[in-house]
Amino acid sequence: MQFKCSVCDAAVEYDPTPGLGAMPSGWRVHEIHGNNLLFCDSCGRPVHFDGGLSPYMKSLLRTRGILV
Ligand SMILES: [Zn+2]
Repeated sequence: MQFKCSVCDAAVEYDPTPGLGAMPSGWRVHEIHGNNLLFCDSCGRPVHFDGGLSPYMKSLLRTRGILV
């Protein structure tokens, strides 16, 4: 199945495999304002989320219409 980043539209083909994880390596889901968003290994780096959303990530999410 295809995983597509909610922020930058990066997409990978990945088949969830028992024991290897439900998502591609480094990808993660964050809930933002009630929406479960999928983040790729780049957008999902902890630096963007430690202590709240980083200014960079906020501006990206605004560009996508996810944040207002
Ligand atoms: Zn991304």
